[in-house]
Amino acid sequence: MVNVDRAAAGQGQSGGRACDILVIGGGIMGLWATLKAADAGAAVCLVDAGALGHGASYGHLGALMAHKPDGWNAKKQFQFDALLELEGALQTLEARTGLTSGYRRSGRLIPMAKPHHREVALRHEAEARENWRPGGQQFEWRVTDTPPVDGWPDAGGFQSGYVLDTFAARAAPRALTSLLIAALRNSPSVHIHEGAVVSSLSADQRSAVLADGARIHFNHCIVAAGNGSFPLLEALSPIGPRPLGKSVKGQSALLAADVDPALPLIFLNGLYVIPHEGGQVAIGSTSETEFDDPYSTDGQLEDLIAKARALVPALENAPVLERWAGLRPKAVGRDPMAGPHPEHGHIHALTGGFKVSFGIAHRLADCVLGPILGQPHPALPQTFRLEAHLG
Ligand SMILES: Cc1cc2nc3c(=O)[nH]c(=O)nc-3n(C[C@H](O)[C@H](O)[C@H](O)COP(=O)(O)OP(=O)(O)OC[C@H]3O[C@@H](n4cnc5c(N)ncnc54)[C@H](O)[C@@H]3O)c2cc1C
Repeated sequence: MVNVDRAAAGQGQSGGRACDILVIGGGIMGLWATLKAADAGAAVCLVDAGALGHGASYGHLGALMAHKPDGWNAKKQFQFDALLELEGALQTLEARTGLTSGYRRSGRLIPMAKPHHREVALRHEAEARENWRPGGQQFEWRVTDTPPVDGWPDAGGFQSGYVLDTFAARAAPRALTSLLIAALRNSPSVHIHEGAVVSSLSADQRSAVLADGARIHFNHCIVAAGNGSFPLLEALSPIGPRPLGKSVKGQSALLAADVDPALPLIFLNGLYVIPHEGGQVAIGSTSETEFDDPYSTDGQLEDLIAKARALVPALENAPVLERWAGLRPKAVGRDPMAGPHPEHGHIHALTGGFKVSFGIAHRLADCVLGPILGQPHPALPQTFRLEAHLG
């Protein structure tokens, strides 16, 4: 049974909807938080400026990769644990909804061109034996001389071999968010409000004001609005607005190709080639801090597609099914941003996942919800905490 303080100041006093937990933003972060809160028995209101799952989480890639196995620390362990538990969490949701997330632990292949890359990779191979062995399992950062399958990728230029990371996985972002949305649309304790922009938060009144003037009262509010989280949180700062994060544009493409979906994703100098189920291969991503139009695609994406075609012969004539661009939320402290506001303990951040949100959102949601619901929860790395970003 949920243990949310229902006697909070302001609830319902000036009219408008009231809920235990208001979640702002229905991307991968807000969807996990909403579902987990509702499953724990809380009355949750989920508001999104647009349609659920159509922000940065509406991409193609879905790479789920750990940090390198060197210099192991709490942050790397947190992400590793999150990636490890994601598989089971998705299996449970797939059984519950009858839908698929497109998840597969298919691994990652990193081609190496220079001898010193191989030297470093051999060190990582040993470090993975130490750091990547949870509960009797052993995942590898294995150095090999040949790719797993001829032509994946074309061997030209990779004299120093390949790393095969057996821990990496992928999911289909749109399938995964659809799975979460289906589960929470079936939940009686979730109220969904799409097409509703939150324009400000009142910490004193514990309420959110929508662009149409309506108010939603909450006991706790989780700000999971992707890059839209930063202005909402900045406005709460007692010493005036300060930048808490920014948007980094990314472009990607989806190709139709008859490629074995079990092949590892290829990662080469920022280029991802990710085989998905159903004869689809995702290509990405650009990383742009300056741009005119956040949602248009351009020559930078065409360059990536050309590189992918040159790298993988099977993609040479593969038709492009879709080109897409979105804005990743990057927090000022670079790490994800989560947890209570230091001055306004009923307002919590759940954002800033930048390039790794899909692998950690479920665990971050546990960290944020645990104290709200009075439930055990994983420890949040210090540098992830909202107060660390504010500092
Ligand atoms: C090209 C590209 C490739 C990527 N590849 C990967 C990858 O391989 N693996 C990975 O893990 N991550 C990847 N990412 C990053 C990942 O997609 C993002 O980090 C993630 O989607 C962010 O999720 P979110 O829930 O924080 O934000 P979003 O998905 O953007 O959701 C935020 C929601 O909040 C709503 N909102 C915003 N402001 C308001 C407001 N004021 N009021 C109400 N609602 C509001 C929006 O409408 C939106 O639906 C990629 C991103 C891009 C762009």
